[in-house]
Amino acid sequence: MINNELRQSFGTDRIPFCFIQSESVTEKRRKGNNFQLRGFSKNADLDKSSVFIEVFLLSHLFLTVSLIANGKRKLCLVSNQIKTEKMNHPNSLSFWERESFLKDIDVAIIGCGIVGLSTALSLRERYKSLRIAIIERGALPEGASTRNAGFACFGSITELMDDLETTSPNEVFALVEKRYRGLLRLRQRVGDAHMSYEPTGGFEIFKHTEGDVLESCMDMLSYFNKNVAPIVGRADNYQVIKQDFGFKNVNDIKIWNTTEGLIDSGRTMQRLLQLAYEKNIVIFNGLKIKDLHNYTEGVILESEDGWSVNAKKVVVATNGFAWRLMPHLAVKPARNQVLITEPLPHVPFKGGFHYDKGYFYFRNVGNRILLGGGRHLALEEEMTDAFGHTELIQKNLIRLLQETILPNQSFNVDMWWSGIMGIGSVKKPIIQHVAPNIIVAVRMGGMGVAIGSLVGEEAADLVDI
Ligand SMILES: Cc1cc2nc3c(=O)[nH]c(=O)nc-3n(C[C@H](O)[C@H](O)[C@H](O)COP(=O)(O)OP(=O)(O)OC[C@H]3O[C@@H](n4cnc5c(N)ncnc54)[C@H](O)[C@@H]3O)c2cc1C
Repeated sequence: MINNELRQSFGTDRIPFCFIQSESVTEKRRKGNNFQLRGFSKNADLDKSSVFIEVFLLSHLFLTVSLIANGKRKLCLVSNQIKTEKMNHPNSLSFWERESFLKDIDVAIIGCGIVGLSTALSLRERYKSLRIAIIERGALPEGASTRNAGFACFGSITELMDDLETTSPNEVFALVEKRYRGLLRLRQRVGDAHMSYEPTGGFEIFKHTEGDVLESCMDMLSYFNKNVAPIVGRADNYQVIKQDFGFKNVNDIKIWNTTEGLIDSGRTMQRLLQLAYEKNIVIFNGLKIKDLHNYTEGVILESEDGWSVNAKKVVVATNGFAWRLMPHLAVKPARNQVLITEPLPHVPFKGGFHYDKGYFYFRNVGNRILLGGGRHLALEEEMTDAFGHTELIQKNLIRLLQETILPNQSFNVDMWWSGIMGIGSVKKPIIQHVAPNIIVAVRMGGMGVAIGSLVGEEAADLVDI
């Protein structure tokens, strides 16, 4: 019966399951394996029309009961003692799997990208015996961390000038500092040799038609040097250079950010994974989480194929995919398409280059060229978390290679891929609690290589266990 005890527990956390077996239930609706019971209160002062009980059978192990009153949902009961038809779910866990693999997880981190791994490693530094699990939907991490361009960059001048139009200088340079410190943290954790770090610097190049843009960058050069000097420890970080890299249709003058570099993203991620294994962090691949239920003692993670995993705390590090678990979070997916050429006889440059205000980016990978970007050509279409390519962007990338980057030699494209970033209207990650036991660390804004390590540290700080 929905009575006073139930009403009181709405403010706390638990109701006994037997309360649902009551004559006060007026309507029962089935929705697949879940059912909802509409009830009313006979002897309590809850508003009759607004009382609603939802019962979710999460798996054969878990039942959740929520009471919805006045439009607010409150999880009241999580039971692991009931027996339901889900006992016979074709893919139910075995006793051994439940007891040995998935039991007693203290912190479950969803997403095995650079942020998920950094969070796990930072937690391990703080807590030696915590049971930490990373849950990843892909066979490999399948987001951006293994699919990016590997620029260890913290700010080209055109990008920072754009940022200054909407954001205060303090905030802009605070983000520059976070990126720079984040890169140092990543290098310190992974080691330059393990990530094939190359201190090439980063270059910004300008089309012939962008004389005015180049001019304003040069006007602002000393301003940017003054502001980044305390961060990077040198007064002449941005330098104007006149170097011929064999490009066509671009200005001879380039701006060189002397303290940027390049990394091998595959090796970097492999090393982070290796560190996680060494530090007794468990990684479950192939488990896609479709829902989270916060309750007093923890969180139930519901997977797409019917498993329920229980953890005391959860950190969501799914970046561009976060909206699927949390549609109200201010983070949107943004796809980026990339190509890499087959090895070339001669690559006339070394380093990472930003072109067209950073809308395109390219670098050498040994004697190949990696080129990506062009999302601005189809902004709406590229607001997606579906991997894939479009003819429009592929054509533009090829044209850029033929006409500007490699005008003097032929090339073959070895492969194409795409990756998904998490972006928002402001260039600032979201690192916060969204429920008492659930923390999010998302919205890397296309700079997760740089800030991911510090974001992981901040997320770990929020895990109070
Ligand atoms: C093409 C491209 C080029 C880039 N180049 C650079 C660069 O040069 N320099 C730079 O600093 N940044 C770059 N970035 C951005 C950078 O790669 C990202 O900001 C960073 O990798 C984000 O890391 P993450 O851990 O937050 O997210 P991700 O690496 O995307 O990790 C999220 C993980 O969550 C998993 N996941 C998602 N949903 C679920 C679920 N429901 N259940 C379980 N697992 C789930 C995904 O499979 C994925 O592995 C680039 C991005 C792209 C796409």
